[in-house]
Amino acid sequence: SYCAALATAQREARLASGERIEVFANIGSVADAEEAVRLGAEGSGLVRTEFLFLDRAEPPSEAEQAEIYAAIIESFGDRPVSIRTLDIGADKPAPYLPLAKEDNPALGVRGIRVGLRYPELLAGQMRAILRGAGGRTAHIMAPMVSSAGEFAQLRAMLDRVLAETGHAAPVRLGAMVETPASALIAGTLAREADFLSVGTNDLTQYTLAADRTNSDLARDLDALHPAVTRLVGIAAEGCRAHGRMLGICGGAAGDPLAAAVLVGLGARELSVSAARVPEIKQWLSALTLEQCRAAAEAALAAASAEEARGELGRLLGRAE
Ligand code: PEP
Ligand code: MG
Repeated sequence: SYCAALATAQREARLASGERIEVFANIGSVADAEEAVRLGAEGSGLVRTEFLFLDRAEPPSEAEQAEIYAAIIESFGDRPVSIRTLDIGADKPAPYLPLAKEDNPALGVRGIRVGLRYPELLAGQMRAILRGAGGRTAHIMAPMVSSAGEFAQLRAMLDRVLAETGHAAPVRLGAMVETPASALIAGTLAREADFLSVGTNDLTQYTLAADRTNSDLARDLDALHPAVTRLVGIAAEGCRAHGRMLGICGGAAGDPLAAAVLVGLGARELSVSAARVPEIKQWLSALTLEQCRAAAEAALAAASAEEARGELGRLLGRAE
């Protein structure tokens, strides 16, 4: 029940077999952060920073950004908070960026591609995140990474910022896995990145070639499509090979059947919408790692998302 879920909510999330799974929240404002902590989030695996950059004539100053990042980070106390760098493109209006109109904005200059074209904007955001983190470990991650070269440029930019600012506290730099390309080369990315985090919303969109904003396709956009599951499995393998942590921050992490599969594939951090934190914590506490691994096997072997859901429902005793 919801009350039982709230009671478990403030406890550390563990599987019934004892393994620690961190249940984090995705947030997009200071108010979200406070709500997430109240609901038992153990950190944030995704702070969407677009809210700071859209619908205004000038980009936010580093001081303004730093103040908001600090407020978000402080709401979580000692718990980790991963701040995602700007993920905008031609479909989101930022008047101060002269982005050309595109026929296919989802396949255009967006995410890290924007940041690398406007390096002062991205470097400024990095400086603001470091200031916001102060003496705590800063976790910075970039959206829509699709090649090792992009990640190398990101790392070089961070190194330059660290050298110029003399920032001395620890910094972890991660890449989001949101494209089939990044899932397939996750092992290569994991060599250079401190962590990877799968964005299942975009990964599903790009794998299935189905626009996530097209309501006509909503039914088909299921992260339990075996093609998506296999890509997450490859990403998990790449992380394991290099001893890196794999997190999940797309909507699938908050879907109970998919959450079991993701844990079975190797994810140890699930970042979900704040409202789903209590339920996901409680759900995980009833599952063993063995069950999650069996769930992953079943999902990998399924012929379709529908078949995967049917099989998982039977296996995990949960009709959806
Ligand atoms: C995702 O793509 O799964 C993700 C977490 O990022 P966003 O939803 O902000 O694109
Ligand atoms: Mg995304």
